Amino acid sequence: MTIEFYKRIAYRLMRASLAIALTLGLIVAVFQVVVDLDNQRQQIDNHVDEIFSVVRNSAQRAVHQLDANLADEVIKGLENYNFITYAAILDDRDQVIADYSSTPPPSDTLWLTRLIAEEIKTYQLDLIYTNGIYEGKLVLSVSNDLGFAPFYDRGITILVSGILRNLSLALVLFALFHFMLTRPLVTIAKRFSLIRPDQTEQKRIDHVDGHQFDELGYIVNDANNFLAALERWQTGLTKSEQQLRLILDTSPNLVFAVDDNYRFIFANTTTEQFYQKPQVDLIGQDYCSVHKNINKEEAKALQLSLDRLDFNDPQGLTVEHSLTSARGDRLVIQMTFIAFHLDGKACVLIVGLDVTQRVKAEERVEYLAYFDTLTDLPNRNLFQNQLKKDVRRANRTHTFGALLFIDFDEFKRINDTIGHSLGDELLLKLSVKIRKLLPESDTLARLGGDEFVISLPDLDKDLEQAKDQAITLTKHLLATINAPVALSNGAEFVVSGSIGIVMYPFEDSDTEVLLRFADTAMYKAKEHGRNGYQLFEESMAAEVHRHVQLESDLREAIKTKQFSMVLQPIVNGLSGNLVAAEALIRWNHPTQGLVSPNDFIPFLENSGMIVDVDYVMVDKACAFLKELMTAGALPADFRITLNLCANTLYQADFVERIVAIVESYGVSERNIEFEITERAALHRLDEVVAKIVTLQRRGATFSLDDFGTGYSSLSYLKRIPINKIKIDKSFIDDLMVNSEDEVLVESIIAIARTMKLAVVAEGVETQMQADWLNRYSDICFQGYLIDRPMTPTACRLKYMPKQSPELQIEK
Ligand code: C2E
Ligand code: CA
Ligand code: CA
Repeated sequence: MTIEFYKRIAYRLMRASLAIALTLGLIVAVFQVVVDLDNQRQQIDNHVDEIFSVVRNSAQRAVHQLDANLADEVIKGLENYNFITYAAILDDRDQVIADYSSTPPPSDTLWLTRLIAEEIKTYQLDLIYTNGIYEGKLVLSVSNDLGFAPFYDRGITILVSGILRNLSLALVLFALFHFMLTRPLVTIAKRFSLIRPDQTEQKRIDHVDGHQFDELGYIVNDANNFLAALERWQTGLTKSEQQLRLILDTSPNLVFAVDDNYRFIFANTTTEQFYQKPQVDLIGQDYCSVHKNINKEEAKALQLSLDRLDFNDPQGLTVEHSLTSARGDRLVIQMTFIAFHLDGKACVLIVGLDVTQRVKAEERVEYLAYFDTLTDLPNRNLFQNQLKKDVRRANRTHTFGALLFIDFDEFKRINDTIGHSLGDELLLKLSVKIRKLLPESDTLARLGGDEFVISLPDLDKDLEQAKDQAITLTKHLLATINAPVALSNGAEFVVSGSIGIVMYPFEDSDTEVLLRFADTAMYKAKEHGRNGYQLFEESMAAEVHRHVQLESDLREAIKTKQFSMVLQPIVNGLSGNLVAAEALIRWNHPTQGLVSPNDFIPFLENSGMIVDVDYVMVDKACAFLKELMTAGALPADFRITLNLCANTLYQADFVERIVAIVESYGVSERNIEFEITERAALHRLDEVVAKIVTLQRRGATFSLDDFGTGYSSLSYLKRIPINKIKIDKSFIDDLMVNSEDEVLVESIIAIARTMKLAVVAEGVETQMQADWLNRYSDICFQGYLIDRPMTPTACRLKYMPKQSPELQIEK
């Protein structure tokens, strides 16, 4: 670093002080000279006065006596004064008696003298005799130039010495400034300039020797403090940058950012791995082009999403993309695009979450909602939709169709003999044979077990003709079913079936009713000796009769309180600890004895009586909770789970009635769980969700019963705010028997995990099932392996050891 001489502080300080010193010196000198000039004038005057006083007497005498010689003498005496240019003695008539004149030598200072005074000054001394009579005068002319000579000499000395003094002072000052200020400053500046921002080790400036404690020392100290602060700040920044990088790099998600031209500006390790390219290679490259090298279509979709992003929406945009990685893995990535600004430029942060597993599970569940996993045929759900359409078209076109209900004879026995897997193989092969027999337009579905249904649309416009067509096909079906089936174990099986037929449209019957009619007809066929078919007839109303009887019995049962509650424990699979108990209804029929709920609940549901019965059960459960509470035997997190039918759930005052019962016993919803079915919840979703949420706020929980028998798509399921799912017994039954079901249970557990739901496995009967389920933690078990449904007292004695004194006395 070099600074021009004229720009140096030392030079400028010197120049300024020199100017000041010179100006001040000049002012002082001028003042001195003026005073001196005055003195000099005075001195000349005095000198003249002195001369006058010395020569006065002689001059007077010379005039008085008119003595020319004396006058000459006097004048001659004056010639010695070199500054006198003219001297004369004159008489009273101004006649010169004696005189003298000289021409002053040429002078360099004359011009100056002329400036400040007259060149020649004339003095006059009147010569007066003792009697006071004027007798003449002495005249002297003096050359001021000569008179000022000493003054001029002094003046030059003053000026020259002043200038010399000031010049030397300026030089000394320059040297002082240079060595004491400029040079150390330059040294400090040089040391400062040597510090680089990227320098990581100690960044400090050394003190300039001898300036440790002066102002320069302060500057160095302050600069060093500043550097230290900078260093700390930089270290902190680097550290937090490293931490951030670490977090981003350990994230399993793709995290990267692109600029306004969609060029990479950042990519974490997962992104690097996805594209098999290091970040340095990605940065600056167009994101869509990079992906285009893998798959053009996917890149196009990505481009569309990016173009769709609203830069003013802080929520960003979340879209699922099917993306192929550089290694060729086909994944579903949930991409979130978030706009942000960097250095005033619009950029996009992209976070990609691999949701492939979830999507697969969803697709699986979605599939399961409409298809039967064993046969790949439509299930009841899809079939009912199709049947509805067929019936509608039949009404429109005035043609008839037929609904066929097939049930294989004694299939349960066959199943027990050959085992589940061969049983399944047999069902599959039969279903394939049946399907082959049917035209495309006919729908074959499996309702479950060995029950299959077929819808034959577009038969004849004439009912009798249509019936004939249906019967002809049915006979074919029976023959096909009857043909031997070869199984993988080498054995051949001959199966027979019974088929119920109902023609549609049938009055204004809906699909449920049609199915029931076909079912009834099928039972009639079985009653008539199997391997046959039966057309549904109105005379079969006898069936309905039985229903009517049951209904009146049930009314009586409600009235006379023939129902009781049993409890079936639900325990944690791993610890075996009791977590809940399901309240199950029992009907003590006066003549028929204990009737299974499966035989009367459907009737209660159809007749609407179920609502009252459900509340009866809530009442019984609360009474039991109260009993436990008073006895101090209520385990803290224990819940009684209550089954709710759709109709109960739909009651307008459902929540109020539950709360009223709970409060009347002084117990809490915290000890109650409600079991509802998917179908009940989805049918009137918004209303049910509101009720669930209200009761959940009061502490109740909700579980989805019979989960997996699936009615709807998973996207709807997400909207029901349940706490728990109960995997249906049928799936647990088939664990380790049917790998399809194992996969399904695995998917259900996986979904439950992602939705943060607790899981209960229903109908756990064997240790093998328990062991299989216990590969997952936190699964709860309900089933005969743990316990059968038991009376509340039995349950309390076995599971709630802390007993009240009264109870012990009772015993
Ligand atoms: P669910 O809700 O699925 O109840 C479980 C059924 O499985 C009960 O039959 C129970 O005894 C039985 N179970 C439990 N563990 C095993 C096992 O390991 N093996 C076998 N084979 N079965 C087991 P239950 O008591 O006959 O009830 C049948 C259905 O009736 C219940 O099915 C439920 O849907 C309905 N239900 C029962 N009580 C009520 C009630 O109070 N209100 C309503 N709305 N429905 C009820
Ligand atoms: Ca249940
Ligand atoms: Ca169940």
